[in-house]
Amino acid sequence: MSRVAYVDGRYVPHSLAVVHIEDRGYQFADGVYEVLAVVNGHIIDEEPHLVRLARSLSQLRIVQPVSDAALKIVMRETIRRNRVDDGIVYLQVTRGVAPRDHAFPRLAKPVLVVTARRKRAIDPRIADDGVAVITIPDIRWRRCDIKSVALLPNVLGKQLAKEAGAYEAWQVDQEDCVTEGTSTNAWIVTAEGTVVTRQAGNAILNGIVRLAVLDIVRRENYSLVERPFTVREAKAASEAFLTSTTLDLLPVVRIDGEPVGSGMPGPLSRKLRDCYLVHTAAAG
Ligand code: PMP
Repeated sequence: MSRVAYVDGRYVPHSLAVVHIEDRGYQFADGVYEVLAVVNGHIIDEEPHLVRLARSLSQLRIVQPVSDAALKIVMRETIRRNRVDDGIVYLQVTRGVAPRDHAFPRLAKPVLVVTARRKRAIDPRIADDGVAVITIPDIRWRRCDIKSVALLPNVLGKQLAKEAGAYEAWQVDQEDCVTEGTSTNAWIVTAEGTVVTRQAGNAILNGIVRLAVLDIVRRENYSLVERPFTVREAKAASEAFLTSTTLDLLPVVRIDGEPVGSGMPGPLSRKLRDCYLVHTAAAG
């Protein structure tokens, strides 16, 4: 099946979808993005994604090129044209095309790109077995709350994880506390059963799945603290897990080669994963 992309006002064959060489996203990573899950043809948690997009754009003083209503139409049309039932929709807004100069251009028009693709949920065996993470220094900038396309440290970190035979790299700040994964939020469950994840702030991206899982944790009345946790604490935790739109919730069973808890996915991670899947199924 031929894929279709939306590029700056037009639906074009994916293989012919291009942006200008002086697009500031290409030259300066001057842009933001969102990845939304599609389940049974429905977009999951669309509103919080749009709220986060608007926030990322406003932090960079990029004007949203189309209204939320128009964006919803474009996303649905892109999903439809690509016949995506289960998958993701990717959208990116850059500051636009202008002669290369660091300062904001006066006349550039923001460029919107939307793509959608089928991507089946990850192999359930991965969730059953859990995944390994490594820890690496967090070498990113101090505005990780902005979902910018400047992902080079994340790319390098994920590659290190892959080369180490791990699934993800947990980035660690100068206080030896975990910030987040390269494309996921990081969580632990303490020996006392308290769910811990770093509070939203400039050090992490406030994940949409993070927000949904926080709601579930509160609704189910589990003990919860949003605070930084150290690598040592994570290794001594009874459970650990990670969350993201593309991975849902995955138990973490090894950190730097050391087993977490029993070395198997813990009961709370399983329960929260099940609840999260119910949340997405209900929306879809
Ligand atoms: N942190 C980072 C650095 C990410 O790139 C992502 C995924 N975009 C997340 C966390 C998880 O965010 P979400 O739950 O919105 O997918």
